[in-house]
Amino acid sequence: MAADYSHITREEVLEQWGIWKELREEFKKFDMYSCLGNHDMWWAAPDKTDSMYGKNYVLDKVEMPFRYYSFAKNGWHFIVLDSNNKNAGSLDQEQRIWLENELNRIPPGSPVLVMTHYPILAVSTIPYGGNHTDSKYITKLFHKHQDKKIHCISGHMHLLDTAVYNNVNYYCNGSMSGFWWGDGDGESAKKGWYHETPPGYSIIDFYDDGTLKNTYYPNIY
Ligand SMILES: [Zn+2]
Repeated sequence: MAADYSHITREEVLEQWGIWKELREEFKKFDMYSCLGNHDMWWAAPDKTDSMYGKNYVLDKVEMPFRYYSFAKNGWHFIVLDSNNKNAGSLDQEQRIWLENELNRIPPGSPVLVMTHYPILAVSTIPYGGNHTDSKYITKLFHKHQDKKIHCISGHMHLLDTAVYNNVNYYCNGSMSGFWWGDGDGESAKKGWYHETPPGYSIIDFYDDGTLKNTYYPNIY
């Protein structure tokens, strides 16, 4: 289910978050850093003052400090962005300024992982759409920070691909739901796949030299 669809009721949204809460209990021992996706927000709430409307409710549920944020761990800098703005995926003006400051304060040579829901750049977006609409701005900003080792990961496409541009690696990492938990259609390479990508998840190994290894694991169910 996607909470952003207009026919979704309060009860359905509450039910889904209930399931999420149960699941989260099961992997409580792991730190979790979430990134807002386009299907997370209940835009169909009766009005904007409703406590369940929009992004803030989701931030609370997935324990995010703000709709975009950063943190550092073991020498790596992690930047989590909110692509869900006008002409999505895109960054709003406030977030652009924040990102510029953020990159400025990261020391030269540092490894950086940028997370977005929509891909900043991808291969699969060429036939299917869904790319960030402000990639020119973002790639030019990254180019100003060539002294850092920048990598990007995204979702949204339910398709698996890797793009490299100006020495920045962009990994679009499929999805757990494959064909949105459905069997697929005439274009699915196999049952439950979206085009040629099976349902799955990625595990990323981060190395001290600023490289990483992104491995996609097809999900068997
Ligand atoms: Zn999406």
